[in-house]
Formats: sequence, C-alpha cells, structure tokens
Amino acid sequence: MPTVQDWRISIRLLSAVPPMAKPNKKGPIRTVDVRCSACQAPLFVYRKGGKGALVKCFRERISKDFTTDGCTCPGCDRTFARETLIRGTPAYKIIGGKVTFR
Ligand SMILES: [Zn+2]
Repeated sequence: MPTVQDWRISIRLLSAVPPMAKPNKKGPIRTVDVRCSACQAPLFVYRKGGKGALVKCFRERISKDFTTDGCTCPGCDRTFARETLIRGTPAYKIIGGKVTFR
C-alpha cells in the first residue's frame, strides 16, 4: 500500500506536467476564423500558434480555405495577402489591417 507521502509525491509529479504537453506534429491545434476586415467574409480556418497579431499564414496550417487563390477575398475581391516563402515554406503574408480573426 502506498503511503500518504507517496500519493503526495505522485500528485506533485502529475501536476508538474502541463495538460497539453505534446503538441500535434502538424502544429498548434487551436484554430481561428480569419475573416475579411471589410466585408466579414470567411477567408481561412487557420491553426494559429501563439498569441498576437496574424501577420503570416503558413499554407500547411490552413485547415479550410474559402478563397480561390489564397490572397483575394471571395466577398469583395480585395487583396488581403501576398504569397511568400518563409524559410522555404509557402505562406501568405497578411497585409496589415485587412483581416480580422478570433
Ligand atoms: Zn471582403
């Protein structure tokens, strides 16, 4: 039978491990809805890592793409991003203020 002391130690060990210790290999799991800031049309569902502004979208992290070319809003035809490569990975660079996300 484990003693009370043993239980305390194992509880401490368990609580030291963060609940989501192993992130998915493909990147963050949390997704955000990216929308056009002008007409609110949905643009992407994106697996975003970290906090802060959305400045770039890696193509491999876009789980749903509502656009036809990745750079133009399907609602109002406004260009909201430019294709780019970030360390060899295809990505879209978001033009400041053109999208909102949550
Ligand atoms: Zn739009």
